[in-house]
Amino acid sequence: MGFLKRRDNEGKWQQKYLQLLDEQEQSERRRQDVEQLLCKTVARLALAARGFNNELDPHLERFRKIVKQRLDDSKLAAELEAFSDTLLRLDESSFDKDQADAALLFDFFIHRAVSDAEKQQLQELSDDYQGGKIATRQELFSALLDATRMDPAPAPVPAADAESRITGSVDARPLVRQLQLLLDDVDTPAEYLEKMHGLRKRLQSECTAEQFNALLQSALELLISIKRRNREEQQKIESFLAQLTDRLTELSLQATDTGSAHQEMAVRQNKFDQSVTRQMQELRQNSDNAAKLEPLKQLINSRLEDIAKQFQEHRQIVESDRVQAERKLQELHHKLQRMETETGDLQLQLKLAHDQALCDPLTCLPNRMAYDERLQVEFARWQRYKKPLSLVIWDIDHFKKINDTYGHKAGDKTLFLIARLLSDNCRQTDFVCRFGGEEFVMLLPDTNKHSALNLAEKLRLLVQNSGFNYKGDAISITISCGISQFLPGETPDAVFERADQALYSAKGEGRNQCRLA
Ligand code: GH3
Ligand code: MG
Ligand code: MG
Repeated sequence: MGFLKRRDNEGKWQQKYLQLLDEQEQSERRRQDVEQLLCKTVARLALAARGFNNELDPHLERFRKIVKQRLDDSKLAAELEAFSDTLLRLDESSFDKDQADAALLFDFFIHRAVSDAEKQQLQELSDDYQGGKIATRQELFSALLDATRMDPAPAPVPAADAESRITGSVDARPLVRQLQLLLDDVDTPAEYLEKMHGLRKRLQSECTAEQFNALLQSALELLISIKRRNREEQQKIESFLAQLTDRLTELSLQATDTGSAHQEMAVRQNKFDQSVTRQMQELRQNSDNAAKLEPLKQLINSRLEDIAKQFQEHRQIVESDRVQAERKLQELHHKLQRMETETGDLQLQLKLAHDQALCDPLTCLPNRMAYDERLQVEFARWQRYKKPLSLVIWDIDHFKKINDTYGHKAGDKTLFLIARLLSDNCRQTDFVCRFGGEEFVMLLPDTNKHSALNLAEKLRLLVQNSGFNYKGDAISITISCGISQFLPGETPDAVFERADQALYSAKGEGRNQCRLA
């Protein structure tokens, strides 16, 4: 009995032991599962957080290595402490600055979340973080760990794969889908398109958890590069916009300067300036507010097109104004040229008319009107310079008889020839005119009455000896003159009167004579 009892007891103990062993094994397996899951989560988290801060990156890399190998509590604890110290050391300002990067991480985790509860918790966490409720990175890190650990139901795994789950493989398909969704949301700049395409291709092919980890790393590296590049691009665009504003301001100032001459143009210029300034302000505001580069680029392009259009319109208006002004100027110029020509013609005609009015057509000598003009000039000069001035009045002797004997034509010819003889044989400064009929008058500047008489005698003899003839028959033609010198205080009429009296004497004393007054 005792044996049996002992055997029974033994059997019970054995059973109990086996049961305990079984329970322990199951517990150990659950612990290993949890540990495995924790390690993977930490590894994934470390990978995801890589690149957000240079100081944290070495810690994250070490975390990944620790959790990938067999979990070593002491190593993990030491690394966690070092990590916490680094987190504490990090400046709060850089923490704020990196909020945008953290937003990317949240986006990824929210996309990655498989349950609504996880999604919601991550969203709340993101809001808390944005709202400043999470003060340190350490808090953020543990909160993220909590949130991702929430996923209690990994995708159902076929029984055959149970072993592989325990040895570290996971079903990566849901994560791949989430990562694809994440990549779908990204505006990929042209220079990253090739990398993005390669990544998508790799994601489409079947992959193990290890391969997925590598893919995830590449994806995050790519996303961070794109984000940095976009930020740089935005900074470049902002500085470009500042330059553009300066250039446009400069341009509009120049345009204002050139346009200020015309009021109408100034009004248009003002409108144009206001329009450009308004658009530039809008651009500035929008570039400050714009979160994404592509809409900003589109906005800038459309604004630049507007500005370019306005510049073109403005240029066209200015050009058309210039062309119109030039045409008007040209017309005015032509008009002035025409007027100038007309004036020149008129002046010429006037001069001709004047010359004609002062010229005797038969003898081509100045006439009596010309004599009146010249008398004024010589008289004024005589009064000013006190140089002697003499006057001679000639009259052809018995001219009526010439007309009567040989006809008027012969008389005209005689008048012409005597005119030549008189004008060709005195000084250039002397003045000879046909005073009327067969009478000629001379004004002899800088000549006293004696010199005048000498000249007159010479002329008289020239006429007498000129050998006039009519159809071969010699004709005797003589002339007589009276000479007077201008006397101080005497009027031209009085001087003329005296010369006329002297002429009268010459006629009375037999003609062909020169007499001094
Ligand atoms: P005297 O010696 O006294 O001066 O006698 P005269 O005949 O010259 O004087 P008179 O005054 O009697 O005659 C002047 C003549 O001159 C009269 C007129 O027909 C002539 N005569 C005046 N002008 C012209 C002209 O342009 N052509 C011609 N052929 N004859 C003219
Ligand atoms: Mg006469
Ligand atoms: Mg006469």
